[in-house]
Amino acid sequence: MPTKRLTADQRHARLIAKVALLAAAGNLIVSISEGHHALTTPWDAWGVPLLAAIYAICAGVAWFKPAWLRAAAWCALVPASVFMQGSLCITLQHPDQRGLYNIAAVMQFMPLLYVGAYTTLRGRSALWLCWGHYAVLMLQFGISWLLSRDLPFDPSHTQVMIQQALITTAVSHPLYILALPYIVRLRRSLDQARQDSYRSKARFLAMVSHELRTPLQSMLGSVDLLGMRLSAPADQRVLTRLRVATHQLQTHLKDITEYTQLEDPALSLQDIPVDLVTLCQDLLDDQRASIGDKPLALRLDLPDPERPLLQHAHGDPMRVRQVLLNLLVNAVKYTNQGEVLLRVRSSTTEPGMVCFTVEDTGMGIALRHHEAIFQPYVRLDEAKAHSAEGTGLGLAVVKRLVDRMEGHLTVNSTPGVGSRFDVILPMLHNA
Ligand code: ADP
Repeated sequence: MPTKRLTADQRHARLIAKVALLAAAGNLIVSISEGHHALTTPWDAWGVPLLAAIYAICAGVAWFKPAWLRAAAWCALVPASVFMQGSLCITLQHPDQRGLYNIAAVMQFMPLLYVGAYTTLRGRSALWLCWGHYAVLMLQFGISWLLSRDLPFDPSHTQVMIQQALITTAVSHPLYILALPYIVRLRRSLDQARQDSYRSKARFLAMVSHELRTPLQSMLGSVDLLGMRLSAPADQRVLTRLRVATHQLQTHLKDITEYTQLEDPALSLQDIPVDLVTLCQDLLDDQRASIGDKPLALRLDLPDPERPLLQHAHGDPMRVRQVLLNLLVNAVKYTNQGEVLLRVRSSTTEPGMVCFTVEDTGMGIALRHHEAIFQPYVRLDEAKAHSAEGTGLGLAVVKRLVDRMEGHLTVNSTPGVGSRFDVILPMLHNA
């Protein structure tokens, strides 16, 4: 089955399609069980299965043609409203015990009609449909009361219960209809608040990083200049410390800026062709320089038969690169000797997914820290003792990116033996 990154609208349409399919199944079950207990009128006997068929067709339309969601919603909601009104009309003419059951059944499904309208049509259209439905409902109650004035005062227990059900409906339904747009508005203002808070944080960060970057650059330049003039070993040691500290500051600034960028709710990912073979080879080549004199081998495990498929992957190359780079940098940083391995495969169990594994023979991570390491600014004491540089943001960035790309991330690690990070990403549309 092809795996493709879906837009928010497509995801919404799919969710609605699933709900519509559930509604179709529910209608079928109700129809069968009501028929079995002889509770159906001819209107229900035809109407309920017909609605099930309409819901199932609309589910298909919403799933395969998300752009037609609104049209499909109208086609499902209007017949549902007509069916409910018809069912009520028949019941009000024969207010017996079966009628009481009918009213209870129809009334309990009406709020679903309102929710359906608000989640699919949204805005004014939803408002029109809901209030229109409620107005017809009230009209029916009014007419039935006028035609049989004695109904509210009838001493029969069933009829008193029907009357109570109608009064409850008349009072509660406007509350549902008013509450729904309020919830929608509340959600919208929460989204807005999230955007505003992100924007002010990003603005502040952009300003701070701009103000810091310029003096940092001039500090680095001055350190290099001084390095050319000072030759005494003691001076050189001081200069090296200064250089390392300045580089550290630069890295921290870059990490914080990157992490904050990922908080942007409007951040969008690219979906373009990616040659994963070249991307992984380049990454490993870049990392070789940072090994220094450690007895450490860097290896890429990418079987030949997989290459043509992986050369034609799809996704956001910058983000995938960032995920793998952060994992590789850690693997090299926290491994003194042995091997760092990058393994790439197309998934055999999940079609369309690519599995990346970064494995090392380094210091490892105790099981109790396996969750915490993905939190921002978490650095383990072992890492500090190893005197490795870092901000504790590398894995938090990886986690955020993998979540954004709708992938999975897992860690397996044993202290003193090594660590293994597995990332699974949807990158093969044509698998
Ligand atoms: P840092 O900048 O400290 O590397 P990360 O978020 O990348 O921050 O990692 C968080 C912590 O997880 C590190 O401080 C380290 O203790 C631990 N860690 C991450 N990767 C490894 C690894 N491959 N081997 C051992 N420990 C690791």
